[in-house]
Amino acid sequence: MSKIRLEITRCKGCGYCVEECPRGALRFSGHISDKGYDTVMVDESLCVACGSCYRVCPDRVFEILE
Ligand code: SF4
Ligand code: SF4
Repeated sequence: MSKIRLEITRCKGCGYCVEECPRGALRFSGHISDKGYDTVMVDESLCVACGSCYRVCPDRVFEILE
């Protein structure tokens, strides 16, 4: 069961979410988007659905599912 959903096409690689995640569940994927940004990925086994990434992301990438 997924805890969060990422609309990764919106990610601009700013890294705010990576800095804010209290569980270290987010990191850069190394996958460069069509817009030329290194995008983030989530390790769902570490995520506790705290919502910090949702709150800090300026580009509305995250949706919290629980
Ligand atoms: S919801 Fe919280 S724990 Fe999960 S990825 Fe976002 S900041 Fe990290
Ligand atoms: S805060 Fe949003 S735009 Fe910035 S790296 Fe994270 S997901 Fe991408």
